Amino acid sequence: MNIILLGAPGAGKGTQAEVICEHLSIPSISTGNIIREALKSGTEMGKKAKSFMEEGKLVPDDVVIGIIKERLAQDDCKNGFILDGFPRTIPQAEALDKMGVAIDKVIDIEVADESIVLRMSGRRVCETCGASYHILYKQPKVEGVCDKCTGTLVQRKDDHPDTVKERLKVYHEQTEPLKSYYEKQGKLCIVEGQEDVKDTTRLTLKALEA
Ligand code: ADP
Ligand code: ZN
Repeated sequence: MNIILLGAPGAGKGTQAEVICEHLSIPSISTGNIIREALKSGTEMGKKAKSFMEEGKLVPDDVVIGIIKERLAQDDCKNGFILDGFPRTIPQAEALDKMGVAIDKVIDIEVADESIVLRMSGRRVCETCGASYHILYKQPKVEGVCDKCTGTLVQRKDDHPDTVKERLKVYHEQTEPLKSYYEKQGKLCIVEGQEDVKDTTRLTLKALEA
């Protein structure tokens, strides 16, 4: 199954992507994580993306489309994949369609803007592997330490409140129109994000079966 996860920044796409990844044994692909990786290792692409990302803006379409093309061509995507954070604009969605990638389901996780701002301030990510945590809702076993790789948990630069507001604005302007794009294709499933992650997970798994 080829799945897209839609939703505002901080709506919990990454967490739900992990759940589906385990449930269906298909890889979860986060353009955000790929870009952060490139930034860390100082590649050309990373340098291009840096300023956009830090200001809460979208990285140019041609850059992310290139990333996705390369990633989807890899062997582990043959039996399906989950896209977490791509597409984020109409041209990106059109590029997927043009590449002949058949999407089965688009799961949109809905969370109100007010809750987003609150959630983001508590979000922490692993410096080493990119796994995501929350100081209230998704605590690691040991404070400040990644469960998966024992890396250090840090706050992302773009999770600071001012940048979050800019990212929400960008989301409403550029990403939200994708809901009607996929609605028209009959692929959109809406999941109302719940306060407790477990409840959202239950709804996501239900949406997969529908
Ligand atoms: P979140 O979903 O919490 O906003 P991501 O890790 O998915 O976080 O994305 C972080 C940043 O990476 C975005 O704000 C943007 O700058 C860049 N980015 C990730 N995916 C895309 C994309 N598909 N198109 C453009 N920029 C992207
Ligand atoms: Zn880690």
